[in-house]
Amino acid sequence: MSNIKKILCFDLDGTLADLYNVPNWLEKLQASDPSPYREAKPIYNMQKLISILNILIKQGWEVRIISWLAKNSTKEYKTAVRKAKREWLAKYKFPCTTAHLIAYGTTKADSVRNIAAPAILIDDNYKIRKGWHLGETIDPINENLIERLQNLVEG
Ligand SMILES: [Mg+2]
Repeated sequence: MSNIKKILCFDLDGTLADLYNVPNWLEKLQASDPSPYREAKPIYNMQKLISILNILIKQGWEVRIISWLAKNSTKEYKTAVRKAKREWLAKYKFPCTTAHLIAYGTTKADSVRNIAAPAILIDDNYKIRKGWHLGETIDPINENLIERLQNLVEG
């Protein structure tokens, strides 16, 4: 039980990375082109977001990514997408300890269910948030993410 952690689980596409505003993103993904994942702009001011996350990390939170790979991917495309997503995270210095880059449609809670309490999910997808049962969820589209995170800061 000593390994149980408070974890903030961030989705990537549409939550941190503005994938859906990359021109022709869907056509490119359907053509097994991973470039939209690399080219997506951050949705948030990353400096501001990271500075709050660093405070939460000091207060015992762990930050992770739980993100789906593209739909109907070949093994090669999965590898390329993982690489592109890891490059994006490195480029913006996102302070996560682990990035769970999992097959499209996988239950996200499975990535952390044995190690997390509580685990807060930040995800733009309503169905994914609805299926989360390890703690609270944050809808980054309709809620103020920065404010929600600031409310977690103690003291
Ligand atoms: Mg998403």
